[in-house]
Amino acid sequence: DLLEEEDAEEDLVGRHPIVTVMGHVDHGKTSLLDYVRKANVIAGEAGSITQHIGAYEVGLDDGRKITFLDTPGHEAFTAMRARGAKVTDVVIIVIAADDSVMPQTIEAINHAQAAGVPMVFAFNKMDKQGASADKIREQLANMNILVEEWGGKFQTQEISAKSGMGVDDLLDKVLLEAELLDLKANPEKKALGTVIEAAMEKGRGVVTTVLIQAGTLRVGEPILAGQFSGRVKALFNERGKKIEKAGPATPVQVLGMQGAPQAGDRFNAVETEQEAKDIATRRQQLQREQGLRTQKH
Ligand code: GDP
Repeated sequence: DLLEEEDAEEDLVGRHPIVTVMGHVDHGKTSLLDYVRKANVIAGEAGSITQHIGAYEVGLDDGRKITFLDTPGHEAFTAMRARGAKVTDVVIIVIAADDSVMPQTIEAINHAQAAGVPMVFAFNKMDKQGASADKIREQLANMNILVEEWGGKFQTQEISAKSGMGVDDLLDKVLLEAELLDLKANPEKKALGTVIEAAMEKGRGVVTTVLIQAGTLRVGEPILAGQFSGRVKALFNERGKKIEKAGPATPVQVLGMQGAPQAGDRFNAVETEQEAKDIATRRQQLQREQGLRTQKH
């Protein structure tokens, strides 16, 4: 039931990158995401309350944008990858320079490499005494990851997520990495994307955060995610503002799913509610059959 078709080259339009921050616990992922979010609230919306929806968009002074997946830790990334979802264009690997490469750093690097996603390294906590970026460069070299300043291909940036030192340069490097990927999507078709998270909320029903990857999602459209169907009742951006539509590389909260899909599930807008229901039912059946088969074995 794959609802994907090839796009004609002339329908493709440049889109901004989707970025995930990974690294060892306490190395500063949350601090970096918080700093970036506070420093880069999209112009005209400063001061508005931002709610946590698992992903957000930041705008730089020069008009360029980045969408951050605000789900630090590997769980989200791993869950999505387990479902075959590829949402991230670039991974920032955060390494605290007072602690250097740790087991979860290695895990993060392995994940990114297995997924074929380019990495930019952020050497964090450079404001701390005893911080050593060179020690990290050496550790990485021992893992066959040669950083640019040592003649390799991997970009690095020394930062302090606490003071913000170096963070703008880090974002520049991420955008440079993204430019090399020449990211494009067709905004003119039915939306397709990936579920970031979904939950039942009192008075709102199922609230599904979706990262739109191609096409444009509009209020009123029949939708399908994982084993559930529905119809878009309302759309909200990460600032809690009601919107009418959402295009490629945009995170959006969707109201109107009839059940809660899982992180990493594929999301599609379709032509008719009947089509959405039929595919959802077929997927539920398949799931039941698979369940029976594994029980027998
Ligand atoms: P996470 O587990 O990777 O999300 O790490 P956090 O962002 O929660 O940071 C862990 C701790 O390190 C917190 O106490 C932060 O205040 C601190 N921290 C994060 N970044 C920096 C930094 O650049 N400099 C200093 N001095 N402390 C930092």
